[in-house]
Amino acid sequence: MPDPVLLIHGGAWSIPDDMVEAHLNGVHNALAAGWRMLARGGAALDAVEEAVVIMEDDETFDAGRGSFLNRDGKVQLDALIMDGSTLRAGGVGCVERLRNPVRAARKILSDSPHVYFVAEGAERFAAEHGIPLCRNEDLIIPREVERLRGFQARAADANVDLFAPTISHDTVGAVALDGSGNISAATSTGGTLNKAPGRLGDSSLIGCGCYADNQTAAASTTGWGEPIMKLVLAKWAADHVATGSLPEWVAAEAINYLKDRVNGHGGMILLDALGRFGIAHNTPRMAWALKTSKHESYGIERKN
Ligand code: ASP
Repeated sequence: MPDPVLLIHGGAWSIPDDMVEAHLNGVHNALAAGWRMLARGGAALDAVEEAVVIMEDDETFDAGRGSFLNRDGKVQLDALIMDGSTLRAGGVGCVERLRNPVRAARKILSDSPHVYFVAEGAERFAAEHGIPLCRNEDLIIPREVERLRGFQARAADANVDLFAPTISHDTVGAVALDGSGNISAATSTGGTLNKAPGRLGDSSLIGCGCYADNQTAAASTTGWGEPIMKLVLAKWAADHVATGSLPEWVAAEAINYLKDRVNGHGGMILLDALGRFGIAHNTPRMAWALKTSKHESYGIERKN
């Protein structure tokens, strides 16, 4: 029986000094929730869902309540969850009335023959499957109203394009290996600040922001979504693990490839079914947390 592993990230960017503690607390709480599932013999799929729910509920992160606002001042959320043992996946995109989009994604994975729902159709599916809808205003916090206002004012003054892919990336994600030898991944995001309404990033796209296959690896990414999408980066990394390369090396190579090929930036967590893992980012910081039965660690600074 493999020893379970849980690995979490809480976004890759220049996390300011005064937000470091909140990020580390957030990944710590998520790690505890996910680990509770694994420790009692639960599935990797349940562990990544629970870990991501904790971070969606934490206003520190760009997921669930407290997410960045789009150009219209609304929260629009994307999430994906994937089971590496069956390759079943569930994704939602551009949802505005779900506190925990990963819960809806999980319902799609479990209860639907489809893989992906967007906007009102996703919300309707969630409501029909017992997930309560909230108002979009319930997801908006004053900090983000201020942030959007400030950004739009600066952009108007400078007469630049009103899109902020490079400012901050607080998407959350988790990958896990359970005691049955199965791996899973989940990723959830509010996307990028001031994004155009209807813009979908990489996070909830299968193989881009999230992927899991027992035969290769489980991956969750964060960062500037458009370059990550162009490279289908999570699947790229999983496929490289399948060729025999170590996840530690592959995660670093994936981020190098992102930079070299499309000038992207971001971070990745990667885990294979043997419990070998990789953590990499080319942003100054990425909050992450790792737990096995023998070891627990956290990090935020780039090492090189
Ligand atoms: N990748 C996300 C997106 O582009 C943003 C993030 O990682 O924070 O939507």
